[in-house]
Amino acid sequence: MNNQPRNNVREQDAKIRATNFNEVSLGFDEKTAMAEAERCLACVKPKCVEGCPVGVNIPKFISYIKAGDLEGAVAAIKENSNLPAVCGRVCPQESQCEARCVRAKLGGPVAIGALERFVADYGLTHAVKTPAITKCGKKAAIIGSGPSGLTCAADLAMAGFDVTVFEAFHKAGGVLVYGIPEFRLPKSLVQAEIDKLSELGVQIKLNTVVGKTIMLDELLGDYDAVFIGTGAGLPMFMNIKGESLNGVYSANEYLTRVNLMKAYQKDSATPIQVGNNVVVVGAGNVAMDAARTALRFGAQNVSLVYRRSREEMPARREEIRHAEEEGVVLQLLTNPLEILGDKAVSGIKCIRMELGEPDESGRRKPVEIQGSEFVIDCDQVIMALGTSPNPLLKRSCERLEVNKKGTIVIDEATHETSISNVYAGGDAVTGAATVILAMGAGKAAAKAILEKLNVH
Ligand code: FAD
Ligand code: SF4
Repeated sequence: MNNQPRNNVREQDAKIRATNFNEVSLGFDEKTAMAEAERCLACVKPKCVEGCPVGVNIPKFISYIKAGDLEGAVAAIKENSNLPAVCGRVCPQESQCEARCVRAKLGGPVAIGALERFVADYGLTHAVKTPAITKCGKKAAIIGSGPSGLTCAADLAMAGFDVTVFEAFHKAGGVLVYGIPEFRLPKSLVQAEIDKLSELGVQIKLNTVVGKTIMLDELLGDYDAVFIGTGAGLPMFMNIKGESLNGVYSANEYLTRVNLMKAYQKDSATPIQVGNNVVVVGAGNVAMDAARTALRFGAQNVSLVYRRSREEMPARREEIRHAEEEGVVLQLLTNPLEILGDKAVSGIKCIRMELGEPDESGRRKPVEIQGSEFVIDCDQVIMALGTSPNPLLKRSCERLEVNKKGTIVIDEATHETSISNVYAGGDAVTGAATVILAMGAGKAAAKAILEKLNVH
């Protein structure tokens, strides 16, 4: 057996990358990818595949890398995933496929994510054959062009459907373009993967808000099936004093202005206030992205305030490491009480916390330490506390059942909503989750649509 330890990916130096928007991780070069592929044991019952929500045949694509057939490797991944360049970069592999890899105790799990990225990037820069499609005479409408919608669109297009995606924004990709920053996921790559969908015949109608520009009932009149993948883009706030002061942003607004509206370019029509001392509230991937973006804008001090401890931080470990290396200071076991200032932010009053008994989520509940209040001086506060689905679609179509959190209710077995032939998946159903879970939901809904409409 190959006893080599796991190969590390190359990264931009922390000091340099904190000043630019270029990609942090540089991925594997060919030699390292080959060496890493050789570490895979090609298990007969591969545990890694069980950990992948879209079921990518991992040993199969890795075997093609070993054989030097990168086109074959691309085709093997594409059997199950239409966004491999995205997944290879942002999927939490450490808690999914790699968490189950049998090599974990033998020099570390195979670097499946980095290998996927290596293969996907090859596929985007080399002509790879598009599979032949036989039309089935059915039409599907997809609402939202995030990973759930794009995956559902790809699977239905491959099955011969005429597919139209309706997207509210002027660019397709959902959170992949407006949320996750350029330095983690270059937008040109997202666009290149979306272009591959167009090659399958998928039409994308931008600037079209379903529930405003066009109604759900109109789509039902024109299409055999509708999939709702509208995500969870409505930011939450703490409802504490001072949240309406100048200089307070939701992470959603902040990142959308930067990523989608290119606020970092000098001639941007939607500039952004550049903070010098920035406090980000939250500890998920969104909080890390906001904090690291603020640093790249030139903030002198960026602190991240989180009421629990490091162990409970929901962000990927790699994102936390990257943020700290770049200079983000973690204020753990700390909770904001009030944002201070007259018209604009001048500070944030916080209190120290300690962990008590587990709450309903199973995590130990943070409890205030009386008398431990303190102030962090700052001129910008970014709230990254989670998001919920936008209520627009529900308001425009009362028959669409949602639960008290505003997420769309679906039948777990059929993936259908309360409206016949209308399916839903991704963050709009689960609340804010991950790219790969959204893709898995889009895939499951496409399968259910094919079964219901008897398309094989
Ligand atoms: P979305 O990606 O939200 O897409 C929904 C789309 O629907 C949007 O384009 C929206 O404009 C459109 N839409 C909404 N309403 C309408 C309407 N009425 N009509 C037409 N279009 C509409 N996940 C990871 O796995 N790894 C990460 O590292 C990671 N980092 C993240 C960082 C940030 C900043 C954020 C915000 C999220 C991150 N996530 C990450 C989560 C992940 O991006 C989401 O779980 C995923 O994008 C959800 O996909 P979706 O298809 O359900 O919805
Ligand atoms: Fe290869 Fe690990 Fe998957 Fe086995 S579990 S097939 S070693 S990647």
